[in-house]
Amino acid sequence: MSDDSHVQVTPKDENSSLSLSKVRSGLIARGRRDAALLLAVPCNKCGERKDLAFAGCVCTSCSEALDKQWASSTATDWVLIAKQLAEEDGERPWYAVSVATRLSVLKLMESDLEQTKRGSETTGVPHKESEAQAGPVAVPSSERKQFWPPLGLLASRSPDAESGELPSGEELCRYVFRGTTYAQMKLHWAKSDSTGSLVIGEALPDDRYKIDVQTIATYLNKVGVPPEEVEEASEAQVDKWWEAATEGRTNIAFIRPANPEEIGTHNALLRDQKRHEPIAGILEKWGFDSRGIPLAGSMDDDEWKHRGLQAWEEVRRTFEGLGLLKGSLFDYEEELRANFVKYDSVARTSTSEVKPT
Ligand SMILES: [Zn+2]
Repeated sequence: MSDDSHVQVTPKDENSSLSLSKVRSGLIARGRRDAALLLAVPCNKCGERKDLAFAGCVCTSCSEALDKQWASSTATDWVLIAKQLAEEDGERPWYAVSVATRLSVLKLMESDLEQTKRGSETTGVPHKESEAQAGPVAVPSSERKQFWPPLGLLASRSPDAESGELPSGEELCRYVFRGTTYAQMKLHWAKSDSTGSLVIGEALPDDRYKIDVQTIATYLNKVGVPPEEVEEASEAQVDKWWEAATEGRTNIAFIRPANPEEIGTHNALLRDQKRHEPIAGILEKWGFDSRGIPLAGSMDDDEWKHRGLQAWEEVRRTFEGLGLLKGSLFDYEEELRANFVKYDSVARTSTSEVKPT
């Protein structure tokens, strides 16, 4: 009985499953076409959902526009201006300001301190507030106790590796690429990919301006606003366009050849990288973490001072061996020490030393 029904049913099933599969494949094909339209990834540069002819993420017109601008360039040193990548947040110490900048900030604060002192002499209020402000600049704030030498400063940038404002957060940064052709650069531009570069600082005001102009021009072209209308547009209208042009854009990128100053900064950063490489190992060898804080909580003050000095001197010898002592923070050692003595003694004795007048 069951065998019969099986024999009878099977061909029927095959037929129906054949027609069903036809319908299914038809549906799937149509679904795929719809999905392709719906899910098409917009062009990284203009946001339009059309053929992404370059690197799978940039449309033909955006690709051609860049070629028109730079394809004939023979530059081999380039700057990519793009948003700072989130992963780089962990590398904050690398952005630490140079000791030269620290010292100049300290000098500014000194004059503030003097002013407050003069104020407190008349009011009798101790100048605690200014000390609190000066403290974090002179020494890392993460730690109460401070001994000479300031191991935490070893990770500072060298003064010649500083380039204008240092980036923080989601800002547009300048990434320098060396020995790179336009064709290679175009790929970095397409994907806002900073691999193989060093970030040297924030985008220049001129870069920002050009990015803004380009962004809004691309948008107005896309939505078909004629130039006459742009010229007569109100500020509110321009703001509206700007909002629409930048909405949801995450891949703002801009390229241009690097200028000599940027190449100089990049060279200085490469020297800094060489300097920074051995530091963590040396500090660890003497019992400190990369910020110069003892790894073992039990290290007593004398040992701390002794080991700190050993580590400091070993770093100095290492820099010397690399031919990189000049240009390092050791150029500022005397000034640092003078400031350290001044502020550290103030910080440690402030409660007992400050007497109301
Ligand atoms: Zn495009």
